Amino acid sequence: MQNTGKIGVTTENIFPVIKKFLYSDHEIFLRELVSNAVDATQKLRTLAAFGDFKGELGDLDVRVSIDKEAGTLTVTDRGIGMDADDIDKYINQIAFSGAEEFLNKYKDTANSIIGHFGLGFYSAFMVSDKVTIDTLSYKEGAEPVRWECDGSPEYTLTKGDRTERGTSIILHIDKDSAEFLEQERVDLLLRKYCRFLPVPVISGKEREYKDGKWVGTDRDLVVNSTEPQWMKKPSELTDKDYLEFYRELYPGQDDPLFWIHLNVDYPFTLTGILFFPKIKSNFDINHNRIQLYCNQVFVTDSVEGVVPEFMTLMQGVIDSPDIPLNVSRSYLQADTAVKKISGYITKKVASRLDDLFKADRADFEKKWDDIRIFIVYGILTDEKFCEAAMKFLLLKDTEGRYFTLDEYKTLVEAQQTDADGKIVYLYATDPVAQYSYIKAATDKGYNVLLLDGQLDNHFVGLLERKLNGTELVRVDSDVVDNLIRKTDKKTADLTPVQRAVLTRLFELTVKDVEKTNFVVQFEALAPDAKPVVITQNEYMRRMKEMAALQPGMNFYAEMPDSYTLVVNTENPIVKKLTADADKDLRDAVAPMLDKIDVDNKAAADLRKSNDGKPADAESDQKAKDLEKAVADTRAEMYKAIDAYSAGEKRAAQVVDLALLGNGLLKGPALDAFISRSLSLME
Ligand code: ADP
Repeated sequence: MQNTGKIGVTTENIFPVIKKFLYSDHEIFLRELVSNAVDATQKLRTLAAFGDFKGELGDLDVRVSIDKEAGTLTVTDRGIGMDADDIDKYINQIAFSGAEEFLNKYKDTANSIIGHFGLGFYSAFMVSDKVTIDTLSYKEGAEPVRWECDGSPEYTLTKGDRTERGTSIILHIDKDSAEFLEQERVDLLLRKYCRFLPVPVISGKEREYKDGKWVGTDRDLVVNSTEPQWMKKPSELTDKDYLEFYRELYPGQDDPLFWIHLNVDYPFTLTGILFFPKIKSNFDINHNRIQLYCNQVFVTDSVEGVVPEFMTLMQGVIDSPDIPLNVSRSYLQADTAVKKISGYITKKVASRLDDLFKADRADFEKKWDDIRIFIVYGILTDEKFCEAAMKFLLLKDTEGRYFTLDEYKTLVEAQQTDADGKIVYLYATDPVAQYSYIKAATDKGYNVLLLDGQLDNHFVGLLERKLNGTELVRVDSDVVDNLIRKTDKKTADLTPVQRAVLTRLFELTVKDVEKTNFVVQFEALAPDAKPVVITQNEYMRRMKEMAALQPGMNFYAEMPDSYTLVVNTENPIVKKLTADADKDLRDAVAPMLDKIDVDNKAAADLRKSNDGKPADAESDQKAKDLEKAVADTRAEMYKAIDAYSAGEKRAAQVVDLALLGNGLLKGPALDAFISRSLSLME
């Protein structure tokens, strides 16, 4: 038998195309060849099981060997082999995939046959000058054949000299690919792609540590474990098995919190084990990702588009022959099978969490802080998961207690419903910094949630959208009496003079805090409430926090922090301070205030006519003069108050105490506060 021919493709020379474009990663040739060898082995097993092969099976392993001198890498199997017709059909007719025919015949049992990679065998030319196939078919009386091709479309087919059933694929490695003649490199690849193949893959010999050094042995080194845990039934596995599997996959990591064993065969085939890792601050998302397998062949660990986005935080293995491989990512994302798979995984993860919650609430609570990040991420990015998660989502309060959404509503409804019928959930983001606000709220009988996670900015907004008639308010966004407005609030009882004097006095004390605006406001709070409380508007704060996370919203991010300085006019210190200032300044300030009022009104009257513009030039001048007079009078009034403030240490003192409570008192201001406090004790 001597035969030459042209490989049956229409393009003049397909190999350059394969080399350049088919796979960006040349290294996958090894995956393809070993998969084919495993495939041929599995086929033989299937034939034997059906009685279509009656010979001795023998040791059904796959060997990968390197001959550095000859410059070859060989993959040998003891599978079904090929005769000349098979070669012609399966190798020469490139576009024809033999797996398809085989699968049709043994549809129900041959699921584990890898026929997924299309032009798999030809990927050998990505790294070779020449490829030789030495093969002997399992069929009775078959003749061995040798096929050879140097990367041009011409091949030769001759009688071979192989005496053992099976196939050897011999790659004559090209100059640029010499790395694949290095045992270490090949072993690394085998570990990456072939770690869980169902047939033993042997590469080199085992080594052992003897007399203080590593020495070779004559035992074959099997690189894979042929029965990975995810292929087994969950009932066959103990917790220890799962943990060991996890440690094998991700050595050196903390044990996972728990896991989910996936197992479906309709309407698609999918198995796998997903782990919830313990996420530490240095958790490396990029290197410990979910691995995607196709019948135990590693395909990729970039699973975006296949699994729901929030699962990028999870680890483990997904194995499915139904995921189209070697296609572009956008195609993958649009594929309906992939969507179904992703939807299924979401459902399964949610129901497993629900089971855990129902089975052992105490244990679930114990794990909650660790798994919360997955759940919140899932809720925020996946509508379906969000829906399912509402059942087991827990809210934690500042005392460390956990509640479901329903439980929490029941807990706070009576106390925390405002005058408009809205339920207000109070929350803190930093229990230490916001301690006094939390205390004020809990003293009043309110409950305060702890929302201190990385994603909680977004989570707060989402909760408000999901829980109708509920508002979330950070505990320091207003004085405690105003956090949940029960009735119209009592207005501060101040005369115009007192208001003007106090406003100026308090403004003076906060003018030096950097990058921060304060608006002074008076409220008649409880007499035993603090004299001054600093709050930050919930809306503005959220805008700023969101802006910090999103590019293109610099406008908000650049704005100074703005706080409200609430002066409690019912507090005895403030009352006394007000009375003293009033006594001292009333006679001077009252006429000035009157004058400001009168001049302001006159100027406004002049401008009233047309769109805020005076009727004629003369009136315009008059209005301007009046406005200048107002400014002058105000400056004079401030001068009087400023002079008084130099001797009034209490205003500065109560403000500084409030600033101190908010961590806003720093640098020279803090130093001044300390000196003032000491001088007050003299
Ligand atoms: P695919 O594996 O997707 O069918 P390949 O190009 O990798 O595509 O292989 C084409 C065909 O060649 C296979 O389907 C199989 O019939 C045959 N083949 C390849 N390698 C072997 C082997 N080691 N033993 C037996 N048959 C093989």
